[in-house]
Amino acid sequence: MKILVINTGSSSLKYQLLEMEGEKLLSKGLVERIGSEGSSVTYTIRGEKNKFQKDILNHTDAIKVVFELLTDPENGVIKSIKEVDAVGHRVVHAGERYSGSVLITDDVVNALEECSFFAPLHNPPNIKGIKACLEVLPEVPMVGVFDTAFHQTMPDYAYMYALPYELYEKYRIRRYGFHGTSHRYVSQVAVDLLGKKNSKIITCHLGNGASVCAVKDGISVDTSMGHTPTGGLIMGTRCGDIDPALIPILENVEHLTAKQIDDIMNKKSGMLGVSGISNDFRDLEDALHNGNRRAKLALEMFDYRLKKFIGEYTIILGGLDALVFTAGIGENDPETRYEACKGLEFLGLYLDEEKNSSIKGELAEISLPESKVKVYVIPTNEELMIARDTKEIIESKKKKNKSGFEVGELQEA
Ligand code: ADP
Repeated sequence: MKILVINTGSSSLKYQLLEMEGEKLLSKGLVERIGSEGSSVTYTIRGEKNKFQKDILNHTDAIKVVFELLTDPENGVIKSIKEVDAVGHRVVHAGERYSGSVLITDDVVNALEECSFFAPLHNPPNIKGIKACLEVLPEVPMVGVFDTAFHQTMPDYAYMYALPYELYEKYRIRRYGFHGTSHRYVSQVAVDLLGKKNSKIITCHLGNGASVCAVKDGISVDTSMGHTPTGGLIMGTRCGDIDPALIPILENVEHLTAKQIDDIMNKKSGMLGVSGISNDFRDLEDALHNGNRRAKLALEMFDYRLKKFIGEYTIILGGLDALVFTAGIGENDPETRYEACKGLEFLGLYLDEEKNSSIKGELAEISLPESKVKVYVIPTNEELMIARDTKEIIESKKKKNKSGFEVGELQEA
């Protein structure tokens, strides 16, 4: 079974084509600057990376270009688009509508359009990607996989804000959490590595956007991002948690609109805002080693906030079996992992410092053998998770079509 995974942004489209037998990546690529001058396509086929420029007016054009590349008579990996069995779409926000991945129907598209209220920057381009695929591939089944879905298992006392309850009733204002597909993927790998189902795991997805998740017996019980991805940890350019009363204060002293404050909190804050140098940890660590005071402060603030979440989640989980690091920083930055683990020996967590320093971007156990709490680096793979969900849903649909029942649905005698 061949599955195409699509992830659309407002002006970009990322794709991967996977052969599910053996879970092999056949091709991947990125279309950038859709709808503006200088659109380009970067793609990898048979391990070789290529790039070219081409005017790409909209997401439908982008999908057509992707199919031309995939079916290119000389270099393509498939003969015809009919070989694509299904498409899996990454969608950021599904509100309270979906707690798992679903087959895309008109109703689902309508529901996601309603959810654009929660994620006005992310959902509309995701929906554009779905509609573009429906136009080009009307016969191919499609599945939506949502960033918020994994966290729908959080209890109400964890996801509610202490605002008037009517605001929740009227607008569904609450914590949703994001990076769910990544937290789900790495926590499943950790459960397999631990070899026990009943487990207490903290997953740290540390990329330019960053979040922490408490996973108990395989389900999310709390996570650091909030109603939007701005909350929680300090991030590349996002502030994470701040005192909410600062917003009207900023409005007054700097004479800013809500939109301008939102811009500051999302694009000019975090590591970039504090350091004044960069959002990238590589630049910040270079600056730190060259004695830059504000880079040092930003890194210390990041580590401190991360540690607070690890502490909180260890308490709510009632212990800890594994601490997992993933995404750009989590996979590649030994210094951040070291700082997060430092001083946690009282929990029975002993980092193998030598191993930690040598691991970049690969699956590894980086705790000492005697450590009660295992520490893992697990490269995330959201595309694979999306493809797996898509395959499962398509196969269960086929079974349902044959028997007339959903898989797992009770059949009356
Ligand atoms: P996103 O998907 O949220 O854009 P990524 O997960 O790709 O982010 O992470 C990107 C970030 O990872 C970079 O901004 C940088 O801070 C960090 N990063 C990447 N490689 C390294 C490295 N070798 N050492 C330290 N940090 C790194």
